[in-house]
Amino acid sequence: MTNEPLDMFCYQCSQTMGGTGCTIRGACGKTPTVARLQDNLIFALKGISAYNYHANELGAKDQDVDEFLTEGLYTTLTNVNFDAGDLINMGLKAGEANIKVMKLLKQAHIDHYGEPEPAEVKVGAQPGPGILVTGHDLRALEELLKQTEGTGINIYTHSEMIPAHGYPGLRKYEHLKGQLGGPWYDQKKIFSKYNVAILATSNCVLLPKDDYKDRFFTMGVTKLPEVPVIENYDFTPLIEKAKELGDLEPEKLTTLSTGFGVSTILSLAPKIKELVEAGKIKRFFLVGGCDSPFSKNKYYREFVENLPEDTIILTLGCGKYRFNDLELGDIEGIPRLLDMGQCNDAIAAVDVALALCDLFNVELNDLPLTIVLSWMEQKAAAILWSLFYLGKKDMLIGPILPAWANDEIVKVLVDTFNLTPIGDPKEDIKKIMG
Ligand code: SF4
Ligand code: SF4
Repeated sequence: MTNEPLDMFCYQCSQTMGGTGCTIRGACGKTPTVARLQDNLIFALKGISAYNYHANELGAKDQDVDEFLTEGLYTTLTNVNFDAGDLINMGLKAGEANIKVMKLLKQAHIDHYGEPEPAEVKVGAQPGPGILVTGHDLRALEELLKQTEGTGINIYTHSEMIPAHGYPGLRKYEHLKGQLGGPWYDQKKIFSKYNVAILATSNCVLLPKDDYKDRFFTMGVTKLPEVPVIENYDFTPLIEKAKELGDLEPEKLTTLSTGFGVSTILSLAPKIKELVEAGKIKRFFLVGGCDSPFSKNKYYREFVENLPEDTIILTLGCGKYRFNDLELGDIEGIPRLLDMGQCNDAIAAVDVALALCDLFNVELNDLPLTIVLSWMEQKAAAILWSLFYLGKKDMLIGPILPAWANDEIVKVLVDTFNLTPIGDPKEDIKKIMG
């Protein structure tokens, strides 16, 4: 059997070809580009929904976002919208809605836990029983920290939970001990290695291996076969499991830094201005997003490693684990690598970029800032459209171009935004630095 590339695949309605799926052009007249743009819109809506869900969990709602989710989904119903140009506009509107929802979530995080502050996070097991929390849901972590206070159980973060250590309202809990592991896809190895109870709070969870299935719990929308679900933030079964498992073997600790929020970075604005004007900072980079286990993602480490020493690198999302162990030093006290948080903290990076535009009195595309994105799933699609909505040009994207984009769609993105696939890291740096 050969894998012929499909122009499109749609089985939305009863007219679908041969009762299996339209793969060239629909009986309804839907073209491959329209089908793909509908898929793209659905992907962006899924990303927005994830952020909206977490904001809603913290009591934050935005009627515009909710209405856009409905409008966007309705747009993709059969025989509603055959206009490719309008579907690109809907992608941009999705980008706008995603900016709103990321702002909503960021503000909810700040309202509940304070402005993030730079933090050194201990990585490795410490004495005592432990619970490892993965995913993105800070409210879940907070409720767990409250319920485990005084029990002797240590709480560890995994993957995108690491930014929790930067929030004053979470780091105040002394038993928030540190981090185990790196990006989401190391979970099978890390969850097997450490004899802890595990809580998965959101997306980026994998079907568990048998050796840790009996100490694994999920919550919210996250569900796995035969894995118990925590209801109503009552973590009693998880806590009991951690006690039953007993102490961890302590190991040699390393550290990672996180917690560079907008306020911290902007408090450095006068110094940044002075360094840029003196030619000591030549360019800013935002390198981050979602990591994935492809060998092609080694690009991001090589890229960051080879950046000239007069550059500053903002990062966020689990893409940072490709290079956040590198010792990149500082430029007269400004750390060269600044971890701004989770993928939804892309909004914080946008705020910093816009503040730098004001500082230097330039437009976004004239700022010496290059965005180098890694993407994995639909949240990244929403963020990509947010950056398009802001008009950001000349971004690099990897590990591959989104598969939903056919040649016609890629042409629009290249012509309008000069979106470029990642290539050779050193060559890319040479082109960017000129
Ligand atoms: S909506 Fe159009 S393209 Fe989709 S299955 Fe029906 S006829 Fe085919
Ligand atoms: S940054 Fe993306 S891939 Fe990584 S944990 Fe978050 S959603 Fe998943």
